[in-house]
Order: sequence, then C-alpha cells, then structure tokens
Amino acid sequence: YQNLLMDTLVITGGAGFIGCNFTRLALAKTKMQILVVDKLTYAGNLCSLDDLCENPRLQFQDGDIADRGFLQSFYQNFQPTWVLNLAAETHVDRSIDDPSPFVTTNLLGTFELLRATQKYYNQLKGDIKQQFRFLHVSTDEVYGTLFADNKFSETTAYAPNSPYAASKAGADHMVRAYYKTYKLPSIITNCSNNYGPYQFPEKLIPLIVMNAIDAKPLPIYGDGSNIRDWLYVEDHCKGILLALQQGLPGENYNIGGKNEKTNLEIVNQVCSSLEEFLPARKNPAMCKKGIPSYTSLKTLVTDRPGHDKHYAIDSTKIRQQLGWKPQYNLTQGITKTVHWYYNNQEWCRKVQKNNYDRERLGLKKDLKI
Ligand code: NAD
Repeated sequence: YQNLLMDTLVITGGAGFIGCNFTRLALAKTKMQILVVDKLTYAGNLCSLDDLCENPRLQFQDGDIADRGFLQSFYQNFQPTWVLNLAAETHVDRSIDDPSPFVTTNLLGTFELLRATQKYYNQLKGDIKQQFRFLHVSTDEVYGTLFADNKFSETTAYAPNSPYAASKAGADHMVRAYYKTYKLPSIITNCSNNYGPYQFPEKLIPLIVMNAIDAKPLPIYGDGSNIRDWLYVEDHCKGILLALQQGLPGENYNIGGKNEKTNLEIVNQVCSSLEEFLPARKNPAMCKKGIPSYTSLKTLVTDRPGHDKHYAIDSTKIRQQLGWKPQYNLTQGITKTVHWYYNNQEWCRKVQKNNYDRERLGLKKDLKI
C-alpha cells in the first residue's frame, strides 16, 4: 500500500460496522491522519473504536452528513485528501417500517456531502487537487433481484426494490452526476453482503450467533432459500482502499466474494462453527431449555415484504484492473466472526442497550410512511 504522509482521510460513518473495520485497516496500511465523522445513530457506537482511541492519527467528529451548516464549518477546519462516504441507514427491515431516515441520510445526506465537497474541491490547487478522491460505498441491492443464472456487473441496470436499496440507488446516481457534470473525482463501489466483527446484531450472522448463545429461536425469513453473496468485511475494506489508491474517477467497481449461499446454508454453517467454540451440551442456556443442538433452534418466520430472491456479484473488473482478491473463504470468515462474537458478547450488550432487543423488524406492522 502507498503511504501518504500526513494526508487526511475523512471517513463518514466510521463508527459503524464497515467504518470501524476500515478505520483499523487504514491506520495499519497507510500513514494518513484519519478523521471519523459520525452521527452516532443506533448503529454507530464509539465503543467500536475503543482499542484505537490512543492512536494520535485518529480523530473523531460528531456530525451529520445531511446537515449543511455542519459540513460548511467542517470544510473550513479540515482539508481532506480523500473522503470516504460510509454514513448511511443500512437495515432493509427498518427501511420497510420507516423509509424516512433512509431518504434523509442516504439520499439527501449524500447530496449535501457532495455539494459541500464540490465547493471544497473547487478551491483546491496543485497536488492536493490531483490526489483528491470522493469514494461512495454502495451495495449490490441497487441492482434488484437476479432472475436468470447470471451476476451483477458494473453495467447492470439499477432496479432497487426496497426503500433502502432505492435510497442507495438515488445516492449513487447523484454521485455519478457530480462526476459527469461538475468533474468531482468520485468513485463508487457496490459490494455484496458483508459479515465480520462489529456488525450490529440486527443483521443475519450476528443475530444468529447471539441468539444461539442465548438458546433463542434462530429466525429464518420465508423458506430460507434466498441467496446472497457473502464477503468478509476485511476483504471489502481492502477493496475500498485499493479503489481509493488506484481506482479511476468516474468508475464503478463491484466487489463480491463469489460465495453465493442460501440463508439456510449460512445459518447451518454458523451453528456448526459455534458448536466448535461452545458445544450446545456445554452451553448453560441450551441445557436449561433441554435443547440438544443449535440447529434445532432454527425457526422459519414470515418472509420480508419484497424480499429479493438472489444477488450475485461479478467482480472481474476490480480483480483485473486493481488486482483485488479476497483473502478469506466463507468457512474461515465465518469461523473468525463466530469466534469474535463469542468473545465480545459485552460489545453486543453495549450497542444493543436501550436500542434493540433482537425483535423482528420490517413486517409493516408499525408503518410510519
Ligand atoms: P452501519 O449501519 O453499521 O453503519 C452506518 C454508520 O453511519 C453508523 O456509524 C451511523 O451512526 C452512521 N450514520 C448514519 N447516519 C448518519 C448521518 N446522517 N451522518 C453521519 N453518520 C451517519 O452500516 P455498514 O454496514 O457499516 O454500511 C456502511 C456503508 O456500506 C453503507 O453505505 C452501506 O449501504 C454500505 N454497504 C454495506 C454492506 C453490508 O453488508 N453491511 C454491503 C454493501 C454496502
């Protein structure tokens, strides 16, 4: 990795799942000053950066990317070389219950960030202007569901189906427009489902690990046959760093692990991995309920409304043009993840406190549209 001495990298959403993992990677692999900007919603927690708080190259700024006044004063105080936009509302189920924060942060927030960044970029000169990049992290969900046995490439038409995916798609289009119209040197990455340490326990893999540890039902939407392409978060972060360092402005890069699995397969794998660290017969919660195996906790529940059937990413472009490839296969990644959650149950309790009790979301019962 290239080392840019004293340059500043701004990471919006840096206290969230991918953000805190990316912050760790960037501190290790570059010499840049890192400035995390985060609104600290339910999904962002400074305890995810606890182990880094002594690092003199890391700073934190409480801020909202949808707040024009904040962004204005922000750019008066900081002169970033790169801006990485990870700030977002990210849980599809929550977007079904209430799309409003998704539109505010993902769509309007990205627009406000682009607007302020363009203004900042326009007054840059020389090397810093040459080096400047705005990287917007997006998802494969913008492509909608796959019907034939093919994969999403960078030229696949957008067809978002959930309010979350629609808000991300709109943001991506705005980033593209800022490149085409105003020449802001921006890059978009579209990644498949991430998993790994520090993911809020509303998402499938941490939810299954934590419920299994507590001998609670393991909810599986519909018949469990929906397919996602899974990628270990560190591999995604390495792709983002490569795209910042070597990616071309105006380009999109799809990032995916070639790990297409049904939700049922993922749950089975998590159960067998947990069995290695904490055998069900030695787990006090399981013994108390007299349940013999983690897999007997599996419970089919009402499907998610509008649930996309199948996602799969064609990541040929980033592999060939930037030399990216994932380091972890699914078994290694899931083992690392289950181990991390088993050892970090306190982190889970902290981030869930007064926020979330692993209840079902997204059934349109408490609709706020
Ligand atoms: P996350 O929900 O764990 O974290 C989001 C972070 O953004 C939180 O720290 C939150 O406090 C912060 N935030 C929310 N609104 C904000 C605002 N208005 N201003 C500033 N900060 C705000 O999400 P994640 O899983 O880390 O995802 C990060 C990005 O990656 C998102 O853009 C998401 O769409 C994208 N992505 C995620 C995945 C995945 O599987 N997790 C896959 C592909 C793309």
